[in-house]
Amino acid sequence: MPIITHTEGPAGGVEQAELLIAEGADPKKIMIGHVSNSRDVAYHKAILAKGVYIAFDRIGLDIFTPTDVNVKNIALLCREGYANKIMLSHDTVNVWLGRPLEAPEPVLKALVNWRIDTSRKTSSPRSKPRGSRTTRSKP
Ligand SMILES: [Zn+2]
Repeated sequence: MPIITHTEGPAGGVEQAELLIAEGADPKKIMIGHVSNSRDVAYHKAILAKGVYIAFDRIGLDIFTPTDVNVKNIALLCREGYANKIMLSHDTVNVWLGRPLEAPEPVLKALVNWRIDTSRKTSSPRSKPRGSRTTRSKP
């Protein structure tokens, strides 16, 4: 059974991986989410060292990490051989209780790029010139 996690802030991924593995989970079936909350590639590598997948799933949530930094980090990790351990996905709030997200205008302005299509529109095409390539991994 695959396990997909959510982490808070720019930390907690290493501890989640260690806990799940200690409890008997197969690292090859664990994906630690929200690593895009962190700008620190060393943090990403520390999680990857546990043998798990990581997810850049909050691209566009620039209040944590600007999109350009996420693109740069993903490209760097791909160049260093981690492409088959990185997932790109979307963990966004598109509606809340059946209605568009309501928040004060400055908050909505800060979240303008936190959209379900941001990863596809920004990350993949922009990472190619930086030396990464599209790969598919086998489960
Ligand atoms: Zn989440």
